[in-house]
Amino acid sequence: MSRLLIVGPQGSGKGTQGVRIAQAFGIPAISTGDVFRGAVAAGTELGQQVQAIIEAGNLVSDELTSAVVRDRLAQPDAEHGFLLDGYPRNVVQVMHLEEFLEGRDEQLDAVIELDVPRDESIARLSLRAAEQGRSDDTEEVIANRLAIYERETAPILDIYRTRGIVDRIDGVGTLDEITERIISALEARGLVRPAAA
Ligand code: AMP
Repeated sequence: MSRLLIVGPQGSGKGTQGVRIAQAFGIPAISTGDVFRGAVAAGTELGQQVQAIIEAGNLVSDELTSAVVRDRLAQPDAEHGFLLDGYPRNVVQVMHLEEFLEGRDEQLDAVIELDVPRDESIARLSLRAAEQGRSDDTEEVIANRLAIYERETAPILDIYRTRGIVDRIDGVGTLDEITERIISALEARGLVRPAAA
């Protein structure tokens, strides 16, 4: 079974590819952004806590985010593998995840880095803003989120690189091409897809 993380700037297509890869490997895709947006939409206590932060494109606190992820990873469907999308997003969260996985005698098998030029990310985000009307896809908030990515999230890749588990994937191409590239890289690591049901 596979324990995966997908990392890339906003607009890199990591959400879409994450779902496709999770499906191919028969594991749940766990997106903290989706969990938070779902909580906001449902008006839960968590949603109320995070709404303003998300709308400004800032990061939710590490403690709260890590607690949400621990709860999700404790569910039975994540017992034998998972794909994390959007978490960990900074070095402190890497440490939180590490501690949690160590407690289960587990570790990440591979980190997929989706490489998309900045101009391309911005163009895709603007398109998504027009199509989906996400409240954190305004120009100002997009710039804030990309700056946070470069400052806080990109450095986590250096940690995983020293462990030799990062696969850097060219994120420009058709959806199918990119999915194929990721699957090939993961298979080259010896990660096995379940036989089609
Ligand atoms: P995303 O869909 O991954 O871009 O996440 C949308 C928003 O949710 C982010 O801009 C943050 O406000 C919040 N968020 C998602 N994941 C995290 C995380 N790991 N740590 C802190 N905030 C997060």
